[in-house]
Amino acid sequence: MLPEILKVAEEYGLTFNPRTHGKKETLCKCVFCEEDSKPGKGHKYYISLNTHDQVFKCWYCGVSGGVLDFEAKLSGLPYSEIRTKYFGIRKKPVHPAEKLNARQLRTIGWAEYKRKNRIAFNKSREIVLRDWKSYEYEELVKHFAMFIVIAHIENQDERQNDLLQYVMQSCRGTQIHLLFNRLLAEYVKEEADRADWAMEGTKIGRAAWKVAFSTYDFEMDKVVLNVAILYHMLKMDKVQKLEVETRKMNSVENDKMSLAN
Ligand SMILES: [Zn+2]
Repeated sequence: MLPEILKVAEEYGLTFNPRTHGKKETLCKCVFCEEDSKPGKGHKYYISLNTHDQVFKCWYCGVSGGVLDFEAKLSGLPYSEIRTKYFGIRKKPVHPAEKLNARQLRTIGWAEYKRKNRIAFNKSREIVLRDWKSYEYEELVKHFAMFIVIAHIENQDERQNDLLQYVMQSCRGTQIHLLFNRLLAEYVKEEADRADWAMEGTKIGRAAWKVAFSTYDFEMDKVVLNVAILYHMLKMDKVQKLEVETRKMNSVENDKMSLAN
């Protein structure tokens, strides 16, 4: 909160015109030009403090400003220091890409780049963040899919347990903070309330389970492979759909163009 200009003036021992002290316009001797302290000017008070608006001005030398300027000038400290005194240090917002640690950056192939060229890295932060997010999304989908496969296995407690250990281990290797906890948190939700990655993971997980079930082969390597294959199939499918849509849009554009011509 802003300090009161009258209190600041009192604190620094300014000489007040007693008749105006505490009024909306409080007058005092100017400590900056000291013009009103010259012989024969005992009755003059050139600084006017506006105790409502918390501003000041010397009618002689013209020095003026707000209460923080006032205190900065009186104390000789930089303005920023006075600001900090009353408002604390203002934290600069940190770009989310800056919060990624060295291991996380290495995972998505940006660690070396950051180390070697800090300035270029700063300019690429949006791309770094996009890369991290897409890595995170893919890992979430795949791990959730594996989790779904495990959840579907029946009457094979030992196997189920082994697979679960494997997934927990794999989660720890991803550099995604609390990945396994995030899987659990989505798993306990109603299916319709799950995050996009969990929905996608559910779809892949069910398909992977079917593949494994058809041969009754729930070896972890197989499950991981199936999930990976299905994930990429789904991705390809999406890409193809996108291409089809783009082509459709282009042909509509072309039609429009030819109609216009
Ligand atoms: Zn002055």
